[in-house]
Amino acid sequence: MSNYNNATCRICGKGYHRCNCHAEGSWRKVTDTAEHYQIFCVMRDYNNGIIDANKASALLDKMDLSEKDSFRESVKETLTEIASKKKAVEKKIEAQAKQIANNIKGGTGNAKANQNNTKTWKK
Ligand SMILES: [Zn+2]
Repeated sequence: MSNYNNATCRICGKGYHRCNCHAEGSWRKVTDTAEHYQIFCVMRDYNNGIIDANKASALLDKMDLSEKDSFRESVKETLTEIASKKKAVEKKIEAQAKQIANNIKGGTGNAKANQNNTKTWKK
């Protein structure tokens, strides 16, 4: 009778056996596996505003999300939200990079002139 399920994973929703002998704060109190606990921590920190979508996404990149279709709906929703927010930030950065590139283009003439000057200096 030591392997009955008395807890539900906060990530995948699977039942698992939570042993009361585990110390307070152990990952076994919230998830069935250590991997799911890592995901749980990212979700929790993201939902609490401790980390932003970019940071959450970077952390999730290092984790195994191959079973994410079996995760709980709320977890999947958060994963989708993180992915879409990260995309929005990437678009913003892309736009900024384009603007910088255009600024540089505008100054190409000067850059060439400088190059010519350097050549002259070398001679
Ligand atoms: Zn789990």
